[in-house]
Amino acid sequence: MNRSGVAIGLMAVAAGALAQQPAATQTPPAPMPAPADVQIETVNLAPGIYMLVGRGGNVGLTVGVDGAAIIDDQFADMAPKIRAAVAMLSDRPVKFVINTHLHGDHTGGNDAFGQSGAVIIAQENVRKRLGTPQVNPSTNAPIEPRARAALPVVTFADSATLHFNDDDLEFTHLPNAHTETDIVVRFRKANVVHMGDTFTGGFPFIDGNTGGTLDGYIRAHETVLPTVDDDTRIIRGHGPLGNKAELQAYHDMLVTVRDRVARLVKAGKTQEQVLEARPTKEFEEKYGGANFNAAQWLGRAYIDQKAALEKRRRK
Ligand SMILES: [Zn+2]
Repeated sequence: MNRSGVAIGLMAVAAGALAQQPAATQTPPAPMPAPADVQIETVNLAPGIYMLVGRGGNVGLTVGVDGAAIIDDQFADMAPKIRAAVAMLSDRPVKFVINTHLHGDHTGGNDAFGQSGAVIIAQENVRKRLGTPQVNPSTNAPIEPRARAALPVVTFADSATLHFNDDDLEFTHLPNAHTETDIVVRFRKANVVHMGDTFTGGFPFIDGNTGGTLDGYIRAHETVLPTVDDDTRIIRGHGPLGNKAELQAYHDMLVTVRDRVARLVKAGKTQEQVLEARPTKEFEEKYGGANFNAAQWLGRAYIDQKAALEKRRRK
């Protein structure tokens, strides 16, 4: 990461977003009001393709002959700002909204865009979960189903393609990764990828309450890595624009930590002892910071590795 003013601005925004991430759920969004000074930053990635950075998950945007489509839509109160940022680049309304997964900091604007006629597209588990009562993983508070207008109307199990603005947007399900609802979106011609929260600037948040697992998170990277090259621009769910080398390093870090946790579990250590052993030690400076939620994701890793070990022993 260079230390230019722009990059620092992006990092500051990203750090704020990451700090909120562990509490993110499919809640009707905006548990806290957006600070009045949150501005959308627009980053051009390829002709007609942009990353919008505001409050919540990073948004992908394509504008062109067919109109505008966005990937994720942050919190509900950001919808007018996203709309204004799109209007700077296109005189047409948002035609499609693609959700990378169900969390409220990525789907909060669905109500607003759905009401104004956008077609919402997502993996089928997004619709299933947003449309039924859920439990907040942090507080155990019940969560009401989202409004009808906020639900995806086009869903798929494994993959789908949207032919739009002379490119092919390929959607691929990444099972049981950050959640059970994640997809990667790939602009085949422009060589741009949006990975939602299966790739962030800090340690991951793994939402076990909605089917997330560390093994699946690592498998998600193994699905995406062969489809990208050194020129691919990779949008992280939170954090600055990424590339293949950074995704590879993130993947390798998670494999190292996962293997350490697995060894500790096999040696009979408790969850507390695993945390005390600091299996993330040399990675904390790079991936820790504001988002150092070791107890959250290592706790999830511990539970997953313990279950996997017990399964192997039963065989
Ligand atoms: Zn998320």
